Amino acid sequence: MQDTSLWFPYAQMKHLEVNYEVETGEGPYIQLTNGMRLLDATCSWWCMIHGYKHPDITEAIHDQADKLSHVMLGGLKNGPAVALAKKLVEITPNGLNHVFYSDSGSVGMEVAMKMAVQFWQNQGLHRKFKMASLMRAYHGDTTGCMSVCDPEEGMHSLFSGLLPKHHFAPAPTAVFDATAEEVAPDIAALRQVFEQHHEEIAGFLVEPLLQAAGGLNMYSPIYLQEARKLCDEFNILFIFDEVATGFGRTGKLFAAEYAAVTPDIMVLSKGLTGGYIGHAATIATDRVFDAFWDDDPSKAFMHGPTFMGNPLACAVALKSIEVFERDNYLEKIAVLNQLLKDELLSFQHDEVLTTRVLGATAVIEVKNASSLAGIQDFAAQRGVWLRSFGCYLYTMPPYIITPEQLRKITQVMKAWFDR
Ligand SMILES: *Cc1c(COP(=O)(O)O)cnc(C)c1O
Repeated sequence: MQDTSLWFPYAQMKHLEVNYEVETGEGPYIQLTNGMRLLDATCSWWCMIHGYKHPDITEAIHDQADKLSHVMLGGLKNGPAVALAKKLVEITPNGLNHVFYSDSGSVGMEVAMKMAVQFWQNQGLHRKFKMASLMRAYHGDTTGCMSVCDPEEGMHSLFSGLLPKHHFAPAPTAVFDATAEEVAPDIAALRQVFEQHHEEIAGFLVEPLLQAAGGLNMYSPIYLQEARKLCDEFNILFIFDEVATGFGRTGKLFAAEYAAVTPDIMVLSKGLTGGYIGHAATIATDRVFDAFWDDDPSKAFMHGPTFMGNPLACAVALKSIEVFERDNYLEKIAVLNQLLKDELLSFQHDEVLTTRVLGATAVIEVKNASSLAGIQDFAAQRGVWLRSFGCYLYTMPPYIITPEQLRKITQVMKAWFDR
């Protein structure tokens, strides 16, 4: 009988065999108890951007733990939380000036949605309490987040009795370097949703440029620019979920920079702490913040998770950003991007539909998900930790990976099809 005390995510426990146990990690490698050492092509669900056991970040954890591991943010401030808020205001797109912390990407998105609804409520617009979202979107696993994930691919059908109904526009189809003309139909479809429902839409949520868990759909910055105009025209807050795209994944510090667009609210998590401890930041513009600024206590923002502003997490995030800047990660990412393009964009195979690359993200999309059955063990036997989902075989490596190490990952991805 297998031990079932530990319940794994997204897996049928009856048929699940987890044979790999991680003991340590260093740089881009995870070290297993069975002696195997694997290059992590997934960055542990995309968050370990510095790789494992980074000496500076590990030291920051030790130093902060010696002073203060946790204290409530209710009525008390702490140094790392204050300093990180200042730093995030400095590095995020111009105009995002107010940081609200929480403990994970999903909760950060819940905070963004509540903030958008209360923003309108505080101004007497009581009908604006729905969201607009995109097909192929993924915004997290909590109930509110599930309700704005793709209603077909996501878990809507199973939980439809529980979930509130929101409005959906088609997933953007115009690719990253599309022309304005090619983006126009995507925008026309969005306009239609706004025209019909704007009176009840509080916010429009997007994963800018890269719909990640929805199949690594990469789309045009022009879409973001045009959607910004539509949000202004129809009085809808524009909310960027940069939980996956933030901190370099698309090749710039934030995906928003490609479009030179400032959202009304931006959410960061995953790369925020370099993955070392869970935390999230929901960052708002003055316009959003000012709607809560009042003598009336009931207009205060009504949220406050236990671990928000945790000093350990904030100290780690500060160090993570310092290392990112000090070690010129954007230059490293540009090198990785060129390598991924060279290695994968021209790759062809009968089972492969297409390949895409953006920043330090690459995907081979296959025609049938069954083509990828068994890839995990195949790759592990060749020293690489790869985990496909659906029709998508992807890599989002840590930025400290060397070109030689990354080439090993792309070679294993391709070797799978030629086995
Ligand atoms: C991972 C992810 C989330 C959810 O973050 P958790 O920390 O897993 O709750 C939300 N949005 C996007 C775009 C993500 O990739």
